[in-house]
Amino acid sequence: MKVTYPHMGNLTIGVKAMFGRLDLEVVEPPPISKRTLTLGVQHSPEFACLPFKVNLGNFLEALERGADTIVVAGGKGPCRFGYYGQSQAEILKELGYDFHYVTVESVDNGKDKFAAGVKALANGKSAWEVVAAIHYGYRKLAACDLAERLSHRVRPRERHRGAASAAYRESLEQIDRCRSAGEVKRASREIRRRFAAVPVDRERPVLKVGIIGEIYFLLEPYVNLHVEERLGYLGAETERTLYLSEWVKRHLLLAPLGVNPEHHYARDAAPYLTTEIGGHGRENVGKAVQYARAGFDGLVHICPLTCMPEIVGKSLYPQVSQDHGIPVLSLSLDEHAGEAGFETRLEAFVDLLGRRAVRERRS
Ligand code: SF4
Repeated sequence: MKVTYPHMGNLTIGVKAMFGRLDLEVVEPPPISKRTLTLGVQHSPEFACLPFKVNLGNFLEALERGADTIVVAGGKGPCRFGYYGQSQAEILKELGYDFHYVTVESVDNGKDKFAAGVKALANGKSAWEVVAAIHYGYRKLAACDLAERLSHRVRPRERHRGAASAAYRESLEQIDRCRSAGEVKRASREIRRRFAAVPVDRERPVLKVGIIGEIYFLLEPYVNLHVEERLGYLGAETERTLYLSEWVKRHLLLAPLGVNPEHHYARDAAPYLTTEIGGHGRENVGKAVQYARAGFDGLVHICPLTCMPEIVGKSLYPQVSQDHGIPVLSLSLDEHAGEAGFETRLEAFVDLLGRRAVRERRS
């Protein structure tokens, strides 16, 4: 079995580690590039959301490299994610590719379906070995998230532009090279030291911006046009609603045990939204309220142009903004998004937040 999967942020580092522990042969798709996007767009329905198109491009490039099994996460309505797997498989089959498609369903769709997906990839390993493999992948992703969070904290304060990004890249390469949980632990300590050694200006005023939006756009810098890195260079420290390791912990380690720590988002979202709308729509609204209460200077809401849950969320943020006195910038992007206009909008928003923060300090 030559297994592949879609790219999404640092997912590949955790998945490679996990599949390695299960002795599965991994065919990593090439990093997302213009070619990936072109292939995906060419073979996707025009109105499919951008993550669908990018992932289809990943699969085409991985199949070209010899993959014979595609692994995806399942989902359920009301958004289109639940149909992703089936639609992508049909497109690829019509293009003449021969492969297996393994969907690891979310536990919300039934523990049996989740277990069937996991079993298809277990490669004869025991349940304990599978859990250990998932946990090892999770440890690597947690180390990646540690490095990413530190980069978001250090970048707006760094004395030499690019130092935090360099430390981040070096950290990811180190985590990817680790061959045991012990090495990952040691790497995490070195990552803290690496970022602590970056020269910073502690007196520089730094804004705090919360990033909310669709999961793929939160996690994949290629499609979000490196929004957090850009904001960091503009003088804003960012924190986002979702980090990959947290998702893995919640959905692959805790949910099968019946533990769901998401309910507190629902409570904070309740004045605006009382039902699930698919994706992370309700969670984002709840988290926006929490960021406002925590004193963040502003929120950037980012999503694919045709994303159904986030279109609903977008219509609610003006009210959240008014009720909690926090500016919100909504950015909907597709494959035609231009970097220059994107940068200009971020600059204008950060400028507004900066002037607002000065006014508030004076009053
Ligand atoms: S959350 Fe949005 S972008 Fe993601 S699958 Fe659903 S509709 Fe598409």
